Amino acid sequence: MISPFKPFCPIAVIATTPQSIKTLHPLCQQIGATLHVPGHQTGLKNSQVYQGSLKDYLTSIWSQNKVFIFGLATGAVIRLISHLLNDKSSDPAILVIDPTGKFVISLCSGHQGRADHLTQLIAHQLNTIPIITGATNNLYLPGIDVLGSPFGWRKGEGNWTAVSSLIARGETVQVIQEVGSTLWQAHLPPNHPFYFGFSESNKAIKFPGQIWISATKRQFSSDLNSSKVQWHPRILWAGIGCVRGTSESLIEKAIHEVFKQYNLAIDAIAGIATIDVKDDEIGLVQYCQKRQLPLKTFPADILIKIEVPNPSTIVKQEVGTPSVAEASAIAAADSSLNSLLVSKQIIQSENEGAVTIAVAQSSIEYTGRIGKLYLIGTGPGSLAQITPAAKIAITQADVIIGYSLYLDLIKPLQRPGQVIEALPITQEKQRATRAIELAEWGLTVAVVSSGDCGIYGMAGLVLEELRKINWDGNIPQVEVFPGITSLQASASRVGAPLMHDFCAISLSDLLTPWKVIKKRLVAAAKADFVTAIYNPRSPTRTKQIIYVQEVFLKYRNSQTPVALVRSAYRPDEKITLTSLGEMLNFTIDMLTTVIIGNSSTYNHKGWMITPRGYD
Ligand code: SAH
Repeated sequence: MISPFKPFCPIAVIATTPQSIKTLHPLCQQIGATLHVPGHQTGLKNSQVYQGSLKDYLTSIWSQNKVFIFGLATGAVIRLISHLLNDKSSDPAILVIDPTGKFVISLCSGHQGRADHLTQLIAHQLNTIPIITGATNNLYLPGIDVLGSPFGWRKGEGNWTAVSSLIARGETVQVIQEVGSTLWQAHLPPNHPFYFGFSESNKAIKFPGQIWISATKRQFSSDLNSSKVQWHPRILWAGIGCVRGTSESLIEKAIHEVFKQYNLAIDAIAGIATIDVKDDEIGLVQYCQKRQLPLKTFPADILIKIEVPNPSTIVKQEVGTPSVAEASAIAAADSSLNSLLVSKQIIQSENEGAVTIAVAQSSIEYTGRIGKLYLIGTGPGSLAQITPAAKIAITQADVIIGYSLYLDLIKPLQRPGQVIEALPITQEKQRATRAIELAEWGLTVAVVSSGDCGIYGMAGLVLEELRKINWDGNIPQVEVFPGITSLQASASRVGAPLMHDFCAISLSDLLTPWKVIKKRLVAAAKADFVTAIYNPRSPTRTKQIIYVQEVFLKYRNSQTPVALVRSAYRPDEKITLTSLGEMLNFTIDMLTTVIIGNSSTYNHKGWMITPRGYD
């Protein structure tokens, strides 16, 4: 199972009283945290005991943890940690949970330490109330210091605190986005403070704040009236050629020099590209490891086909392609000659070797992340009927894809900055391919279906589409979250009709031939299964449910109890208990599940019961 808490680890949980230990001990196991308890609380499994003052102990473990969760009064926590807090870009996330676990508070490092996000996840896990007081969260805006994180963007220089405060005050902040995904822009609340226009005509207008999203490294002047920050989407591929044994330091120097000369941001590098015979070139490998960059290599017979401005016959004689740096940069950026931003530059050093470097720009940024697909069942309709695991997965995802009605139902679980893509009910296939496309790119994508995702839902479709593209079973990672399916939800509203063997049959003949459905209806009726009918009637498909009655009447008494449950657990829920003979006299539509009892099912005072056979 993919744990949503893994990216937050290591997590230290501090509890000092028996009550908070009781609350937090099980949580530690669920989220993979270490519980730290004082010396007198002995005999507790899987916990770390500390001696002496908690203040000193915290100092000793401060730098080893990304997150601290305290089961203490907030006042006490503030006093304990105040001397340890340094800077919000490096401080750990601090959360407080009251001793009985009723509230989870995001105390410090809400954005960059992701305390707000973790607070929401833990609140789902404990089924309690998250307390998040950060301004952008409550304006339903993504924090500007985290908005590029899902896409793997890197934060450049700028006055992040000043621009965040402008946004919190509702002042207009101009966004100048030159490269990178604009998905984040499409899902902002209507009253967001961003101004997206940038043209020659408004160049002169002074905005109190600016966010630059580009591959260029900008030096901002210290203008007190306008605060600026810059994000760098990773869209630049540096193609490198070098003689054997070139040092890492020369490679680094060459890249830095060229990037500086062309005003490009080092943080915008997606990765390094070269010819395959250089995949073990020590300087290159070390440079990539140090900066956590991928090294993409291409064989000469691919590179030779790429049109470049500066081919070299000497290089061709040596490695079988007239260009390494330019051709591999273009190949890695997956584009053509016009993606080349910097043509071949040669940087030499007398005793360290020589490096050729070219830079190409990809149309899509490299996220550097392994994508995930969460296939989630959201139950029949009310938030109370969704599993905590599904809630966590929904909150954690970068993107949520589903049919708009179901997306509305789970709106309270959404997090600012999430990309929400609603597609019409008829476009299941598009939903599946879109989800796969985004996950292959590196995002965590939640695909939601009502009820259970694997019962007439999206799970099978997504897996089938993955199979078509030769998915290796691992990347993107897939996890399926079960949900309460309509037959369970509907049964629970009328009593216990599914107490004996039952089956489900969908009357939708869009994907299943009617002949097959008929065969299964006859078999179910004959075998005396309690039968739940999904998709019983649509405005254009009206005859099938008449056929159901006909077939079942052949094998069952007309008094057999039938439940018609429409929109179970939704505000417009309607429940009708009737009989096989009478069932067609009531409304049956696409929001209804029909449950036909077996030969022993009976109604008692408005409750439908199928005996298990104990009597
Ligand atoms: N994946 C869903 C089923 C989708 S098929 C699940 O597991 O429940 C759609 C059908 O489900 C509808 O035509 C209707 O028959 C049934 N359905 C969905 N939501 C329902 C609800 N809240 N109450 C009753 N039936 C429902």
